[in-house]
Amino acid sequence: MPRIMLLGAPGSGKGTQAARFASDYDVPVIATGDILRKNIKENTPLGRKAQGYIEKGDLVPDDLVIAFVDSAFDEADARGGWLLDGFPRTTAQAEALDALLGKTGKKLDRVFLINVPKDELISRITGRLLCPVCGKIYHEKSMPPRKAGVCDLDDAVLIRRVDDNAETAKSRIAVYDEQTKPLIEYYAAKGILTEIDGTIGLEKIEEVIRETLG
Ligand SMILES: [Zn+2]
Repeated sequence: MPRIMLLGAPGSGKGTQAARFASDYDVPVIATGDILRKNIKENTPLGRKAQGYIEKGDLVPDDLVIAFVDSAFDEADARGGWLLDGFPRTTAQAEALDALLGKTGKKLDRVFLINVPKDELISRITGRLLCPVCGKIYHEKSMPPRKAGVCDLDDAVLIRRVDDNAETAKSRIAVYDEQTKPLIEYYAAKGILTEIDGTIGLEKIEEVIRETLG
């Protein structure tokens, strides 16, 4: 069972791809943000520690983030493999991850980078429409509702998230580019990076991932 990581800008379809991969390969998606929220909600010792930082307005430090990932790797469903989403974010975290995996003789098999041109990302983000009732997401061009501006499932009037404007999208993409560049170099140097054209469609992307993993 594979151990992989996905990299992709906001709007690249990374989240959707992660969910499909998890169901295809029957592995969990390990997303540090989700683990953090779960631990805080369940009031675990790690959760309480993290909350201390968050309440002070500080970032949760790397060693604690690593501890969260370590605990997620220990869960029964992750023994066979997993997909990392949103972690590591920095080269320091990538090195810590390698050290953590090295202790158990495991390794990250492959990192997939889903590449989408910036203009396309912005148009994907700004065209997004959301149903406030059921949460279904549409796109005014690529996935329009049957009746313009109205949810197919419950007839609610679709809304646009305030964050889904061109300016916010541009700055989120810029942050992503800056953060991810060193990681791309790190994994390329290790020879485990596969770049995928993110405009070929969900099924094709899935196919490339499957073929690469063999
Ligand atoms: Zn709806």
